[in-house]
Amino acid sequence: MFDEIFYSECLHCSAVVKYRESICKGCFYKIKKVIHRCKLCGYPLNIEAEVCRNCLESNYYDKLFIPFWYTTVIKDVLKKIKFRYNLKGYRLIDELVRKNLMKMDRYDVITYVPSTLIRRFRRFVHPAEYIATILSDIYMTTCEPLLKRVRNTSYQWKLKKKERLKNVSEAFIPRKELFDLKILLVDDIITTGATLNECAKMLKGAGAKKVDCYVLSKGLF
Ligand SMILES: [Zn+2]
Ligand SMILES: [Zn+2]
Repeated sequence: MFDEIFYSECLHCSAVVKYRESICKGCFYKIKKVIHRCKLCGYPLNIEAEVCRNCLESNYYDKLFIPFWYTTVIKDVLKKIKFRYNLKGYRLIDELVRKNLMKMDRYDVITYVPSTLIRRFRRFVHPAEYIATILSDIYMTTCEPLLKRVRNTSYQWKLKKKERLKNVSEAFIPRKELFDLKILLVDDIITTGATLNECAKMLKGAGAKKVDCYVLSKGLF
């Protein structure tokens, strides 16, 4: 009854929606899901191809699980929760993660790409950490910060490919020994995969047996 009396606004286009809904139906259908993926690692591909460019070189991560493209509603909601408290945004991300689960392994621990100090200070919630806690709840697996950012990096999308690799190199260190653990590393957005690869390299260096990554969206840069 509550839902029928009270109305609210769509997070993306401001259309009228039911009280508990985050976005309208029109915007819901604008969310672009990933359809084609690299057969080896799961990296989202724009076109129907077998293998991604990263797999021709070598990755430290094992499998990638990425359900959406970073466009329209996804782009908007991630920006909104990054800079201010946004209940609808949190609710929408929670719903999108839960309703679009992929067949993943069981992990010993779930962790996330840490944010920079300045970025952490400005935000209410670090999106990667928020997504990691949702997955931790779904799979009943502990979520723990395993990496520490030791150097601030520029936003990856502002850089060219070679600069991206240099930008993230040695930006993270492991917080402890991870002997033989299977880890799920979480982030909100992936550009080329350089950040995840660097994080996975550090986790494996600390002893991790397997590092799969769950990232909510793939940027089209
Ligand atoms: Zn809308
Ligand atoms: Zn690949």
